[in-house]
Amino acid sequence: MSLNILGIIGGGQLGSMIASAARKLNIKTIVFCDDPDAPAQKFCDEFLFGEYNNINLINEFTSKVDLVTFEFENIPFETLNEINKLKPVLPKPSVNRLIQHRLAEKDFINKLNIRTTQYVSIKKISEMYAVQDLLPGILKTTTLGYDGKGQYKINDINDLENLDIDFSKEYILEKLIKLKNEISIVITRFDHQKYEIYEPIENIHEDQILKFSKIPANINKKILNQSKIWATQISEELNYIGTLCVEFFIDRNENLYVNEIAPRVHNSGHLTLNAFNVSQFENHVRAICKLKQIKINKISNAEMINIIGDQINLYRNKKYNSNEFFYDYLKSDIKDKRKMGHLTKLI
Ligand code: ADP
Ligand code: MG
Repeated sequence: MSLNILGIIGGGQLGSMIASAARKLNIKTIVFCDDPDAPAQKFCDEFLFGEYNNINLINEFTSKVDLVTFEFENIPFETLNEINKLKPVLPKPSVNRLIQHRLAEKDFINKLNIRTTQYVSIKKISEMYAVQDLLPGILKTTTLGYDGKGQYKINDINDLENLDIDFSKEYILEKLIKLKNEISIVITRFDHQKYEIYEPIENIHEDQILKFSKIPANINKKILNQSKIWATQISEELNYIGTLCVEFFIDRNENLYVNEIAPRVHNSGHLTLNAFNVSQFENHVRAICKLKQIKINKISNAEMINIIGDQINLYRNKKYNSNEFFYDYLKSDIKDKRKMGHLTKLI
């Protein structure tokens, strides 16, 4: 495919990093985002601001690009579907529709005989009383959650009285897993049985937000192999093109579970920018644009720390060693719990 202009929906740090990877490969980018301050406008060739359901804007965006991708999964399916009638959208909108919905996503994973936490659909508060064997658990909105948003930890059914939960929304209740650790697999699928798969990354969350990632992960060989097999199976089953991330839980008895799938580049994969010859972002662009697949090689072990909220001020004024790589997302406002940048250290 001779491709000149890549459209990216979403203008956060992931969009910025996809745009930078495209630039390196001589591909121009147009970012479409509903935030006028989107940081990715500083990294792309053209920026379109407006709501994701604005049909005029969708048409303008579509007419200007050769191919479209996205940086996050919560874009309205109708928007992706409209664009896909005229220009290819990768990953396919149908993948997005499946993964946007936590229940459909978990049903899909279980159909592949891949283990997840035990879960049930909760459509009204009264249903909670019948499923108390899943407590302690986490109640999660079926759609639009990220970084722990829309999630409630329920230890006991009486907790419901103290939590102000909006039951006009639909939820999924998941049994709480006693975590030993969490890992993720970032994989880029180019075509049938053609992948670049990164080694498992170990992740530490604080307040349900990713705080820290590192390679190598402190896991046994069996879990290492199983996580790679499951991530490959999921991407093959989805007929996926591009970079995808599978998040896993490991419990205290060394059982592996798939937590969720992110049909996009992922925060835990930021260390691939410095620790590998080809990053998750470059691989994503290579796969969707049908460019050459390059075998990935690890340059170094690495740790990545997410810089959240006003911590960014400290990092902006620091001096760094040659093995340290500071990324400032250049967001105009500092907000509590907002990912503002990250630091990767090669170790
Ligand atoms: P998000 O879509 O916000 O990333 P996740 O479902 O991945 O939501 O949850 C965020 C984090 O919360 C997880 O990475 C994990 O640390 C914790 N968590 C979520 N569900 C469970 C569970 N069932 N058992 C234990 N920890 C959980
Ligand atoms: Mg998650």
